[in-house]
Amino acid sequence: MHHSLEIITLHKPQSLTQTKTETETMAKSPETEHPNKVFGWGARDKSGVLSPFHFSRRDNGENDVTVKILFCGVCHTDLHTIKNDWGYTYYPVVPGHEIVGIATKVGKNVTKFKEGDRVGVGVITGSCQSCESCDQDLENYCPQMSFTYNAIGSDGTKNYGGYSENIVVDQRFVLRFPENLPSDSGAPLLCAGITVYSPMKYYGMTEAGKHLGVAGLGGLGHVAVKIGKAFGLKVTVISSSSKKEEEAINHLGADSFLVTTDPQKMKAAIGTMDYIIDTISAVHALYPLLGLLKVNGKLIALGLPEKPLELPMFPLVLGRKMVGGSDVGGLKETQEMLDFCAKHNITADIELIKMDEINSAMERLAKSDVRYRFVIDVANSLSPP
Ligand code: NAP
Ligand code: ZN
Repeated sequence: MHHSLEIITLHKPQSLTQTKTETETMAKSPETEHPNKVFGWGARDKSGVLSPFHFSRRDNGENDVTVKILFCGVCHTDLHTIKNDWGYTYYPVVPGHEIVGIATKVGKNVTKFKEGDRVGVGVITGSCQSCESCDQDLENYCPQMSFTYNAIGSDGTKNYGGYSENIVVDQRFVLRFPENLPSDSGAPLLCAGITVYSPMKYYGMTEAGKHLGVAGLGGLGHVAVKIGKAFGLKVTVISSSSKKEEEAINHLGADSFLVTTDPQKMKAAIGTMDYIIDTISAVHALYPLLGLLKVNGKLIALGLPEKPLELPMFPLVLGRKMVGGSDVGGLKETQEMLDFCAKHNITADIELIKMDEINSAMERLAKSDVRYRFVIDVANSLSPP
């Protein structure tokens, strides 16, 4: 089996085990399978080019909230997916899982939200709600978990994401969006925010005064710097170039900056870090990063490069070090993270774009040329042709 499929089988069996359902579903056109016509932007093939796309969404059910989308962040996962980097993209795909909007319809069983509420939708929009993981508010590790896009939803049809006018989501997967969080720069917290917050909590990376390395200063990385500082950590950015140094220190609040191609500085930093959050989206060497850790140090990998990385045993064994992973976070913890960020005034640094600027934004994202998250001004720039 192709390695990425193995990973996905563990990580998200539903999209694979339900391909039959999907094939059946695909017999109907995306535009006519549901009653509600929706307009968005989607990719048709692995060129990844996004263009206007008409599809449909289910009627708002008893437990559902319909969200009119205001803003949607552009995660590197969106880019991996439109390019089929992991080998499991089912085209057409409408990406987008950092969604902030307004509830425009609520089903009769919906108690958490009312029409007019500002809400968030993140990476996950479905789970079995009865397994051990779901019982522990870890819907993100439910074997039936379904992603907001490029997955099959609970009704057996394909999910389309937030580069679109609206979305219909079960209330369990909708977040309250705290009042003082801006809708645009707050949107990336729904993926980037929870993805770095959850492992910091789970792996005990929150002890004030400890030293955190953040590898890769992109969407996830820059939020990790801010959350790390809010936990009272000493934060060092580990980057592939010196271009972001000034901003990282003077603007994002990092304590220091390491360029991986500077052997002298890398050598001087050996054995100085308690933890590293690795957000690098491409294949990279772990050896130099593991060297930066102290004895008992932990490297938590969040990035999902398209090929496996080499895991060098010597630094792990000789330093009793550990490498772990983490996948977004459960809904309860996502709410906790939003409230934490609201309290600490943590938002993403964003470049706001119009929907029709998405293809050039994706090209820049592929070159790590974004400060530090693109967010699409969906409500003001998405209009049917
Ligand atoms: P991003 O904004 O593109 O940031 C990734 C950063 O990695 C870049 O800014 C760059 O930082 C560094 N980088 C990129 N290519 C590199 C290379 N060839 N060598 C060394 N460094 C490189 O991406 P993101 O949205 O933060 O996502 C990062 C990764 O996490 C992606 O793989 C994404 O799919 C994954 N992800 C995982 C989860 C999860 O639940 N685990 C959730 C969301 C995203 P510098 O310029 O500082 O070097
Ligand atoms: Zn994401």
